Amino acid sequence: MAHLLFKDVNKVYPNGYHAVHDFNMEIKDGEFICLVGDSGCGKSTTLRMIAGLEDITAGEFYIDGKLANQMSSRDRGIAMVFQSYALYPHLTVYENLAFGLTLEGIDDDIIEEKVQATAKILGLTDYLERFPRALSGGQCQRVAVGRALIRKVSIFLMDEPLSNLDAKQRVTMRSEIKQIHRSVGATTIYVTHDQTEAMTMSDRIVVMKSGGYVQQIGTPYELYFYPKNLFVAGFIGEPPMNFIRGSVEGGKFVSSSISLDIKPVVKDVKALEGKKVVFAFRPEAIELGAKTSSYAVDSYVELTELLGDTTNVYATVGEGESKTNVILKVNPHHTPTMGANFKFYIPHNASYLFDAETEEVIESDIKRH
Ligand code: ADP
Repeated sequence: MAHLLFKDVNKVYPNGYHAVHDFNMEIKDGEFICLVGDSGCGKSTTLRMIAGLEDITAGEFYIDGKLANQMSSRDRGIAMVFQSYALYPHLTVYENLAFGLTLEGIDDDIIEEKVQATAKILGLTDYLERFPRALSGGQCQRVAVGRALIRKVSIFLMDEPLSNLDAKQRVTMRSEIKQIHRSVGATTIYVTHDQTEAMTMSDRIVVMKSGGYVQQIGTPYELYFYPKNLFVAGFIGEPPMNFIRGSVEGGKFVSSSISLDIKPVVKDVKALEGKKVVFAFRPEAIELGAKTSSYAVDSYVELTELLGDTTNVYATVGEGESKTNVILKVNPHHTPTMGANFKFYIPHNASYLFDAETEEVIESDIKRH
């Protein structure tokens, strides 16, 4: 296990592109961290700086208290798994797993022991004599993870390791990687653009935005219930959070489609007077019955989509040019009729306001549960 510390770490590529800005973070021994964000936001660059495959342009990076900026990759105690699993096609699973150890000149007996132990963790014992072409994508990815795992490192780096798998295999491998992490305990940094993957696997998540800017670092719970800004609010959660643009007038959130008393959901109403704001709520947070502490909103149902355990309702709030599209999740037994009006309720404790200019969340005393 290893403890990592980043102090104002920056990456500027030789062509002048500033790919990571002031990355600051402490990662505890054994934590599982996901770096998440859209393509090109600097996730892989950050991972490659940890691996020692890219120079750090400015700032400091420590491994177990030792400044590691100049440390060679070999001395960092890392193993890396990439998106393309790149197994040797002419070698069996056993030989693929043993390859690195054989190169290091380790005794056959010890290699045998390590290969068997690794295969057991990954459920590959019955496949050791097979060649990669006779394996499924999920099994190939497991061998790739095994090749990294067999080296008993203290830092495990993974760059989109599941993106070549189909949806079903991804879900299975997600929980397998979590289990492996639990049994091996290595500090793990995992890069993905998939927020569901990040939410389900991480102890903590780093949300990054294009240009290499960290938006928020927190547990999945913190990011989901207490997003710091519009970007994080919109990125975490599926379907995404609903946003309605408007302004604060006379203590109310006013858009051309609705008017809501914001006193119950913000600390200082007066300070907001006249400000442009965004009212927000999650599709799954709405209720169908009238609650005392909620907002009642009238909508018009454009389309419903039964998913089985839930129905997605695509509706509009307001009319004409001010019409806002919203997505609502409802119990399928209470699916509203398409082409009809539909009243729903947003609990105060599931309502958010963001400053439309700074895009930061507006402070609130509300406990979100
Ligand atoms: P992500 O992993 O989030 O998709 P990357 O870290 O791969 O993003 O890339 C971040 C940004 O840096 C991108 O805009 C990419 O084009 C740029 N970039 C990556 N590698 C280089 C390089 N060697 N030289 C110049 N720019 C690069």
